[in-house]
Amino acid sequence: MNRLIEQLSLLPGIGQKSAQRLAFHIIHMPEEQVKILSESLVSARKNVRYCKECWTLTDQEPCPICASAARDHSTIMVVETTRDLAAYEKTGKYHGVYHVLQGAISPVLGIGPADIRLKELIARLEKDVKEVIIATNNSLEGETTAMYIAKLIKPAGIKVSRIASGVPVGGDLEYIDEVTLYRALEGRTEL
Ligand code: ZN
Repeated sequence: MNRLIEQLSLLPGIGQKSAQRLAFHIIHMPEEQVKILSESLVSARKNVRYCKECWTLTDQEPCPICASAARDHSTIMVVETTRDLAAYEKTGKYHGVYHVLQGAISPVLGIGPADIRLKELIARLEKDVKEVIIATNNSLEGETTAMYIAKLIKPAGIKVSRIASGVPVGGDLEYIDEVTLYRALEGRTEL
C-alpha cells in the first residue's frame, strides 16, 4: 500500500492526500479493472511516440493526420501541445495539418526557440506550404512565440496568420468550446 501511495504521489499534481485517496480507490476496484489500467499504462508508455512530421503524440508513424491524403498539407496550424491539436480536431472544421511545438518560448522560464520544435517547423516549410496559421495560446508565452515565428517565416514569402483573439487571455485552448475555436480560426488575421 505504501509503495502504491509513494508511486502515485510522484505524478504531477498528485499530493500525498490525493495519492492516498487514489490508492484506497484502486484497492477497492475489481481486479480485472486494475489489470486493464496497469496494462494501458505500460502500453501507452511503450507505443506512444512523437510523429516525426508534426510532433504530435501518436501510436502510429506518421500520425493519422499527416498520413491522410484528405488533409490539405499546404496549410500548417502551429499549436503548443497535442491537447491543443485535439481541441481543434474536435471542431471538425479544420482540414489542414498541424505542427506541435511541444511548448512555447518563455524567457522567464528560460525556454528559448531551440527548446521547442521550431527548427522542425522551418524544415517543413521547404515543401509546398501556402499558409502557416499560428494558434499558440493567448498568453504572454504564446504571443512571444507567435511573433518570433512570424518574423522567422515571413521573409520566405509564406502567408502567416494568427487566430483571432476571441480566445480568452491566458486561456488554455483545450478548455475553450468548439464554436469559439472555430470563430477564432475563421477570424484569423494575416501577420
Ligand atoms: Zn503527424
